[in-house]
Amino acid sequence: MDPRTIGVLGGGQLGRMLVEAASRLNIKIVILDTSSNAPAKQIQATQTHIHGDFKDPYKIKELAKAADILTIEIEHVNADILETLMNENAVLVHPSPSTIRLIQNKFSQKTHLSKHNIPVVNFIDVPTKDDLLIAIEKFGYPLMLKSKTLAYDGRGNYLLRTEDEISNALESLGNFKTPLYAERWASFTKELAVMVVRRANGEVKSYPVVETVQKENICHLVIVPAQVNDLILEKAKTIAENAILTLDGAGVFGVEMFLMNDGHIYVNEIAPRPHNSGHYTIEACETSQYENHIRCILDLPLGSTALKVPAAAMINVLGKSDDLQETLRPCAESLSIPGVTIHLYGKQDCRKGRKMGHITVVSDSISRLFLRIKPILEAINENES
Ligand code: ATP
Ligand code: MG
Ligand code: MG
Repeated sequence: MDPRTIGVLGGGQLGRMLVEAASRLNIKIVILDTSSNAPAKQIQATQTHIHGDFKDPYKIKELAKAADILTIEIEHVNADILETLMNENAVLVHPSPSTIRLIQNKFSQKTHLSKHNIPVVNFIDVPTKDDLLIAIEKFGYPLMLKSKTLAYDGRGNYLLRTEDEISNALESLGNFKTPLYAERWASFTKELAVMVVRRANGEVKSYPVVETVQKENICHLVIVPAQVNDLILEKAKTIAENAILTLDGAGVFGVEMFLMNDGHIYVNEIAPRPHNSGHYTIEACETSQYENHIRCILDLPLGSTALKVPAAAMINVLGKSDDLQETLRPCAESLSIPGVTIHLYGKQDCRKGRKMGHITVVSDSISRLFLRIKPILEAINENES
């Protein structure tokens, strides 16, 4: 259907689901990841992949030679070499390296968004401990202290509640070895997310607004459609699309947002790639985020982003300990529930809090959806306690 080969920087679960979507379309994917057994490599094992770091310029060049177009499944890659390769016309890169670079640094990302009138919570640079004291004076407690770079799953965030925690917070975030900034605490009523897709020709579409529930900074549950009024749905969609219009490049983007009590919405952060809050699209939408990402970057007609079921949920299966079987017990229990699809990522090392898989549940009504997910959430909670 399209003879071009896609090179993907990163071989985790997002890459694995990209490979699943690509293989249905006969589209070849080459993965760059340090692990020869990375989740995305496992399911196209007859294909030659590249073993190496997605920050290593030589390995990225090798990937560029093996592919017609490069994309990412993680943003913490070497954006400079991607930019050089693109400028030399060696390979196409989507989303654009400048977008990847901007998003890699949460502080630059927030500065960019606020410059473009996209609502974000107040934030301030914290290059030294004195600046942290200024931030505390300005925003009060609790205060969200964040690493500007290399953050994921809440690693890099410290919720500062009292003065006593300052030294602990600074130590746990590396004492300024990675740069820090602070954000005003958003006492949100809900967290929302919207996946926005943009085709290389500029066409933009978005998926339904979802509600996400984070536990200890890690996404735990996604509910779609978000249980908020139509005005909020429309506002969240508009803000998410406007945010993406400020960025260059094609692909799917995840826009995470805070919904406040008074109806205000703030953008938390943007992911320039398929996103955890869009896993549900595989079973619940007419075209998944993974297939649409491929269509976007190859400039093929976009698929419909509409729901094809009235309601869906996604529950992350996070490592309970280093015992994989113990972690997967709730999956086994959910097999007997109608509407359930289990995705396991094939990760060898199970660790506490690591994303090992997810469970999607679809239903013909939101009330039945809640009945279906209740026993799964209970099994996960029991497993955790
Ligand atoms: P991800 O895995 O989504 O990339 P991350 O490590 O980049 O996570 P953030 O998205 O910055 O982390 O924060 C994780 C979670 O922490 C948010 O989803 C939200 O629940 C909470 N959080 C972050 N910033 C704030 C804030 N300013 N006020 C209140 N809660 C916040
Ligand atoms: Mg993040
Ligand atoms: Mg986040």
